[in-house]
Amino acid sequence: MKLLELTAHELADKITAGEVSAAEATGACLDRIEAVEPQVAAYVSVTADIALQQAAEADEKRAAGEELGPLAGVPLAVKDLMCTRGLATTCCSKILENFIPPYDATVVERCRQAALPMVGKTNMDEFAMGSSTENSAFQITHNPWNTDCVPGGSSGGSAAAVAAGEAFVALGSDTGGSIRQPAALCGIVGMKPTYGRVSRYGLIAYASSLDQIGPLTKDVTDCALMMTILAGHDPHDATSADIPVPDYTESLTGAVDGLKAGVPSQLLGEGIDPQVRDCVGAAIDELQSLGLECEEVQMPHIDYSLPVYYIIAPAEASSNLARYDGVRYGHRTTQPTEDIYDLFAQTRAEGFGPEVQLRIMLGIYALSAGYYDAYYLKALKVRTLIKGDFDQAFAEYDVLLSPTSPTVAFPIGEKADDPLAMKLADICTIPINLAGIPAMSIPCGFADGLPVGLQIMGRPFEEGKLLQVAYAYEQATNWHQQRPVL
Ligand code: GLN
Repeated sequence: MKLLELTAHELADKITAGEVSAAEATGACLDRIEAVEPQVAAYVSVTADIALQQAAEADEKRAAGEELGPLAGVPLAVKDLMCTRGLATTCCSKILENFIPPYDATVVERCRQAALPMVGKTNMDEFAMGSSTENSAFQITHNPWNTDCVPGGSSGGSAAAVAAGEAFVALGSDTGGSIRQPAALCGIVGMKPTYGRVSRYGLIAYASSLDQIGPLTKDVTDCALMMTILAGHDPHDATSADIPVPDYTESLTGAVDGLKAGVPSQLLGEGIDPQVRDCVGAAIDELQSLGLECEEVQMPHIDYSLPVYYIIAPAEASSNLARYDGVRYGHRTTQPTEDIYDLFAQTRAEGFGPEVQLRIMLGIYALSAGYYDAYYLKALKVRTLIKGDFDQAFAEYDVLLSPTSPTVAFPIGEKADDPLAMKLADICTIPINLAGIPAMSIPCGFADGLPVGLQIMGRPFEEGKLLQVAYAYEQATNWHQQRPVL
């Protein structure tokens, strides 16, 4: 098998065995980036010098006999909303085009400690608002399986980079599906951990009660290894949980007998493409044949997830994005302005794209006097009911199963002018963020030559159980070994 087609753990084994150096692997990855970026456009910046230097350091340490982590030397891509010291971090927005953070996000620091060379920062929907990566202010990323299609979003650059062999692992963020949906559409594995499992220090906030960082990888083992690197308490993030981190690879047993899975009817009904439903149905059958007990479960409040999310997320975003005013950093208008308010207004009108402006207006509306009780407070109450449905289901089931995305990757431009159609792309993923629980997407088949994802959801802090079920399925199938031809 070619070097670039290896998974991260396969590459790491070769590095450990001395068959290939971190520098060689990183060089090969950078060559691949140069070769396929004209077709894929996954990266907004390529950090070749840094990557090669970090790879050389990993090789030196290994040569000196230093004990290195299990993914040392494996090239990594980082979504461009995680702060990287001395390197542009733009959120793919004009308003942050020239922002150079003075510090690293905790996850970036952890990956550095684990000796993963960072090859670049990846494209995304502006401020992570979108499901196709078409809302980037800079470029459109193409799906490696069919370059006329979107890679999903908002972590579309990270997903496309891993799928196209331009990185072995990547970091993404997920507020309503932004790791899982692009992972599904690009045929790879993506996990949104429990809210609080991974530090968000240095993650540029979209909706703070929903945001979570997680890995995008080629297989389940890589996901487990990345989770072991990323998870854990961080004194810099007050919302990070002070709960011990297991060695997630211990969950990769291959067995599922004794576990029970619920399949929420609400996530397999209307709006799910019949071909997607068939693939997911076949995956559930496969898991059943492996010994997982599966049955349908009713979760009636899930139906309200989309409206609840589109009140809470914009409300939080309108507050988080109020800081971009052109005064201290980021874009500032060069037009003549009358006073400071005019400067703010002009700067923000120029700096934010249309989708972000729409969300800010929605959020301010939902939070304003007279509407707060009617919309925001009501949405919070319904969020509690949705969470209650999950609590009830998890009293009975170890995991829940559903499609990750209602459709496979769609053509670029198809939903760009239809905001409702775009938002329906997240019907299966959004409830999970509202409940704060962990969920992952794994490849489970193809429809029209495009990958389909199976979503596995679990109880808070039971990422290990998700990995256990995912790994058993992966062992029994070969979807994760398929690679797109570019
Ligand atoms: N597509 C959803 C949105 O536009 C979710 C994005 C995300 O998870 N960051 O808000």
